[in-house]
Amino acid sequence: MRSVDVLIVGASLSAAASAKRLVDAGLETVIIERKELPRHKICSGILSPRGHRFLLENFGPLPRETLHEPTSCRGVTFHFPSMVSMPMDFFGGSTPHLHRKFSDYWAIKRSGAQVHDRTSFVGLDDRGDHVVVSARREGEPVTYRARQVIGADGPSSLVIRALYPNYPKQIPWFFVGQKFHEIIDCPLDSDYFHFWFHPGLGHYTWSHARDGRQIVGVGFKRGDNFARRHENVVRYLREKHGVKLHPHTEDEGCGENFGPSLINRYVFGKGNVLITGQAAGFLNMIGEGMSCALHSGAISGEAVVEARIRNRPVQEMYRRMIASEVRRTTDQWNPLKIAFDKPHEADFPAALGRLSWADRAKVLRDMWRFVVLYKEFNWGRQIARAALQRPIIGGYSMQRWM
Ligand SMILES: Cc1cc2nc3c(=O)[nH]c(=O)nc-3n(C[C@H](O)[C@H](O)[C@H](O)COP(=O)(O)OP(=O)(O)OC[C@H]3O[C@@H](n4cnc5c(N)ncnc54)[C@H](O)[C@@H]3O)c2cc1C
Repeated sequence: MRSVDVLIVGASLSAAASAKRLVDAGLETVIIERKELPRHKICSGILSPRGHRFLLENFGPLPRETLHEPTSCRGVTFHFPSMVSMPMDFFGGSTPHLHRKFSDYWAIKRSGAQVHDRTSFVGLDDRGDHVVVSARREGEPVTYRARQVIGADGPSSLVIRALYPNYPKQIPWFFVGQKFHEIIDCPLDSDYFHFWFHPGLGHYTWSHARDGRQIVGVGFKRGDNFARRHENVVRYLREKHGVKLHPHTEDEGCGENFGPSLINRYVFGKGNVLITGQAAGFLNMIGEGMSCALHSGAISGEAVVEARIRNRPVQEMYRRMIASEVRRTTDQWNPLKIAFDKPHEADFPAALGRLSWADRAKVLRDMWRFVVLYKEFNWGRQIARAALQRPIIGGYSMQRWM
């Protein structure tokens, strides 16, 4: 059995940030990753300015191999069924277009932690003063003993399932899939990530350029038909935006836990086990999850260090410290914040202000029709309650967290 100070499950960006804090504090840290590194990760790779700053400040300038072509992104363009389009630049200029296979590996290596790849988390036993973790490396059982465990294993987290076996049944699950097309003609500006607020297309519909091809992606409630949904979007892009594409050459998809950050229902773990990144529920508006994965990951590492210095329970420390990241993320979904503040990293109010009054009215109507698509999940009341609580308690209630 290998004994370490902290074991992190999953070798992604939240893990890299967490490990950086732990290693800097002198703690022996091992990351286990089920895949062989560098590993593929389905992602558009559009990094927010805040995520970019985090990488620069903690890991240094990004090497060229960590970027796709185009190497940067100016911002996001929202499209609406009424055919109004709103390009919005990121505050502070363009940000890198990350190639997740190499950017994540680069950050993991720069964290200084030891990495055991091809090693899958299987289960854990929290014994009060340490945690025993069972895993499998290339089919063979391996065991770790750690003072703390950090679950950074993404939306379908097995670490969460080990703590709360019923959790997957308690939240709605979505499928997001993307297909890659050679381009015949594409009038969509390749400097922007394009997103459609269109209830007829799906819960999450996007397109952008990558390495000379065009990605067409669609997200919907799990159980629907990816091929049909995707074909519908391709047809729409052709008819409404003049996008002419060859049949797809590749596709991929995965399950997503979209929802916890909207309704402040995060999962931070129990005892000596912390959950961070998207596993904990961090996801910003239009599915931007890297910046909050990095920041929440760093906070999980800091919480372990603080708990040791102050001799306090690590959960207590983590929950107190993570409240700032919860505010940043849930603010992005808070209608009062959207109306009266600037919770996003691109200027939606300014872009709206550039439209004629008639187009503004169309945009607001189309957005409302899009939001209604989510009615079946009963999030409306929970979002409203959280929004009203925000100014009263200066944040979001910790009582809602698991
Ligand atoms: C189609 C799509 C497009 C996206 N586009 C963007 C975008 O443009 N910008 C953005 O900011 N975000 C985007 N996101 C979201 C972003 O990818 C995630 O929010 C972010 O990667 C979460 O990081 P993480 O560190 O929490 O976990 P993840 O990146 O999910 O990584 C988890 C890691 O844990 C490993 N793992 C899982 N289970 C085990 C196990 N049992 N044992 C060991 N290891 C395990 C996985 O292999 C993986 O390496 C997108 C997501 C999708 C699906």
